[in-house]
Amino acid sequence: MNTTLSLALDTVKLPRHSQWAVSTLGHRIELFFSPNFQWRENAKPLLFIGGVHGDEYEGVELAAQTLLWLDSIYQSDSTTEISPWVLIPCINPDGYKSNQRTNGRGVDLNRNFPARDWSPRIKSSRYNPGTFPASEPEVRALANFIVRYSPRLVIHCHSWHPSITFTGNEAPVEAKILGETTGYSVQPDIGYPTPGSLGQFAWLEQQIPVICIEEQEGTAVESVWPHFESGIKKIFGKI
Ligand SMILES: [Zn+2]
Repeated sequence: MNTTLSLALDTVKLPRHSQWAVSTLGHRIELFFSPNFQWRENAKPLLFIGGVHGDEYEGVELAAQTLLWLDSIYQSDSTTEISPWVLIPCINPDGYKSNQRTNGRGVDLNRNFPARDWSPRIKSSRYNPGTFPASEPEVRALANFIVRYSPRLVIHCHSWHPSITFTGNEAPVEAKILGETTGYSVQPDIGYPTPGSLGQFAWLEQQIPVICIEEQEGTAVESVWPHFESGIKKIFGKI
């Protein structure tokens, strides 16, 4: 994570696990959670994730700015009632630190989840699915979290062509909110198969809906939060 962002997150007063998991190359993965999130099975938080692909800085920026906004809310209003949430600013610190899509072993985390459609076929090195499902520690940590705590919704943040893609039978209300507030199209798939992706795992194996936010690739970093601010605030229930 770039220095400015790391320093900003250091000031966050919300509960955190500073070393919730450890990446392939030994970088710590930090997890933040709302004061009302209870670490028990089936707790059903909103799970918000940045940095699945390390070279998509827009997704890390969006997750980090969401966290900074949440921190300001809790610091300014002790009576606030926001439903339980968990936020991981950067699930792929290896990739983020070296500006590459994959983790430190060259695996695309979004093809390594233990979904029934996981495939060992390597379409190209960008999409290397790993040697077996959940072979990567980043994916194992996230998959275990999802199975144990059953998030009511997973949102993960990327950049490519702008879109709000959902996995599930119908668009979650949160996807519609994001579409309406950004003007980005809301669609049921990205346009090509994504075996072993986070969306396929959470939906096929756990029936948990997933939203994949794609910010416009190359968006100026200071423009990312303004694009999503109103939608994110609605989603977390504090407009
Ligand atoms: Zn991506």
